[in-house]
Amino acid sequence: MAERTPVSIADLVSNLETAAKIARMLSDKYLTLEVGELNTKFNELVNLINGTKIEVLEFQNIISGKNRQIAELESALKFKDKLVCIGDAYFEMDAKGKPTGHANCVKCWENTYKKRKLVVKTDDANVKMCATCGQTYSRAETENIKKKFRLFG
Ligand SMILES: [Zn+2]
Repeated sequence: MAERTPVSIADLVSNLETAAKIARMLSDKYLTLEVGELNTKFNELVNLINGTKIEVLEFQNIISGKNRQIAELESALKFKDKLVCIGDAYFEMDAKGKPTGHANCVKCWENTYKKRKLVVKTDDANVKMCATCGQTYSRAETENIKKKFRLFG
């Protein structure tokens, strides 16, 4: 489904102003309007209110999506300067700049800035995999390198 371009807030305000104008007109001229004209104006008023309500709900969804993105980016920023890529994995750095903790998926971090822990593949102890994206890595390239870094670092 193609993403629909939402109307602007100025369009919504304009719709509400038109709706208010029609409502005022209906109250001022209620007795002078023909029944057909009254029905037309009333339907126009209802359509404007309903259309505006739908657009407001879409704005609310857009804002909620943006808030989720902001929270994800804030989470990524928290780790951005703390992660270092060594071998085939990202690790958090300790206070001395040495890798610590679990190996994290390179693909997930570089594509979505989400830190995802690698786990040993159940049917192959030499392979680690990301439980989120399924990317596999040599266990040696995600664990032994960290150990070597500790020995020589
Ligand atoms: Zn992954």
